[in-house]
Amino acid sequence: MAETVTNWAGNIAYTAKEVHRPRTPDALRSLVAGSERVRVLGSGHSFNTLAEPGAEGVLVSLAALPAEVDVDTAARTVRVGGGVTYAELARRVHAEGLALPNMASLPHISVAGSVATGTHGSGVANGPLAASVREVELVTADGSVVTIGRGDPRFDGAVTSLGALGVVAALVLELEPGYEVEQHVFTELPLQGLDYETVAAAAYSVSLFTDFAAPGFRQVWLKRRTDQPLAAFPWAAPATVPLHPVPGMPARNCTEQLGVPGPWHERLPHFRPEFTPSSGAELQSEYLLPRARALDALHALDAIRDAVAPVLRVCEVRAVAADAQWLSPAYRRDSVALHFTWVADTEAVLPVVGRLEEALDAFDPRPHWGKVFTVPPAVLRERFPRIGDFRALARELDPAGKFSNAFVRDVLGG
Ligand SMILES: Cc1cc2nc3c(=O)[nH]c(=O)nc-3n(C[C@H](O)[C@H](O)[C@H](O)COP(=O)(O)OP(=O)(O)OC[C@H]3O[C@@H](n4cnc5c(N)ncnc54)[C@H](O)[C@@H]3O)c2cc1C
Repeated sequence: MAETVTNWAGNIAYTAKEVHRPRTPDALRSLVAGSERVRVLGSGHSFNTLAEPGAEGVLVSLAALPAEVDVDTAARTVRVGGGVTYAELARRVHAEGLALPNMASLPHISVAGSVATGTHGSGVANGPLAASVREVELVTADGSVVTIGRGDPRFDGAVTSLGALGVVAALVLELEPGYEVEQHVFTELPLQGLDYETVAAAAYSVSLFTDFAAPGFRQVWLKRRTDQPLAAFPWAAPATVPLHPVPGMPARNCTEQLGVPGPWHERLPHFRPEFTPSSGAELQSEYLLPRARALDALHALDAIRDAVAPVLRVCEVRAVAADAQWLSPAYRRDSVALHFTWVADTEAVLPVVGRLEEALDAFDPRPHWGKVFTVPPAVLRERFPRIGDFRALARELDPAGKFSNAFVRDVLGG
């Protein structure tokens, strides 16, 4: 490959024989039909080899296609092209007075790539971002377009699909009327005596952050919809200045805090679209486990604090409501999501990831597909009970495995 393409974090350099950026839907379809192995690269924010097509494969970016965002205000839906980012989508949806129910910590990521990995924000009643999807349009192996909507028995396999069913050319998402959100940040929430369920339900979206330098949480971010009541938060002190969740990073990179109300898309992500999100030099891991076990899991993490802290930039704890996508880490399970932003040093981080996975093993954790994990494929197949159904769907839609790769083959087995 003449051109070097890496993921956002720079820890993966793709080995594809060619990189293509089709400019029209027709060019995309002929490229797919004429290629033997294809993987799409979204905005490249995954931290592992999920998007890697292999040395004989073709890596396709949809970034040069027209950035289609068609809002249907009467139906309250939007049809969004396969290369569009949440930043662009949110801007256009907001302009029509409508809104998405939730967003991830950053708006820089592509919609198709996010829902493909089960990406989520926080909120006890908020499912992963894929929960908004009503219809998926796939360019399949022969270049033809297959549309799979809710009600189709294949739908629950078709959204969080790891890119293994075809190229997602467009998605139709459900919208709701626009709303405003305020962010209230608190500092130093103790672990001792924590009632996680109550804290997680204290606002529309709640995140706890810690560096594990000491027990408990350095920050709590409450995102309150202004059309919902403001609950008291007596367990920690309100911050008096804006904060960044990663120690040492500037607060100006973050969305507005101190209770100033603003449009949903300028408060639900932690990071502003015009700045580098998070720390910029990092790896990430994340595990979703049953929310009822959250407190035990947090104590299990506290017990290995000294091993985790030296390679950790920040840990974030979020709530995710159950969804029905077969490969979703929140599949049929109200979950707590334990996220780790590591230093950018794979060699130093991997042993700690192993240690962490051991500490969480008893809680049946499902890893985030887009992040660093070492859970063996056989264990993954126990933890994601519908992997077999997904494998059958992949065989039906893509019998020759054009859209598969080493990562997907490992996970699906069989
Ligand atoms: C700073 C940072 C913050 C993050 N915050 C969060 C967070 O708050 N919550 C969370 O859950 N995750 C978070 N993530 C992880 C991120 O959301 C996921 O890795 C997500 O998949 C990124 O989307 P992407 O478009 O960059 O995907 P990529 O990494 O480009 O691709 C992911 C997968 O989707 C496939 N894909 C992409 N587009 C298409 C398409 N059009 N058709 C078919 N397949 C496609 C790719 O082949 C690949 O398999 C964060 C990552 C970073 C770097």
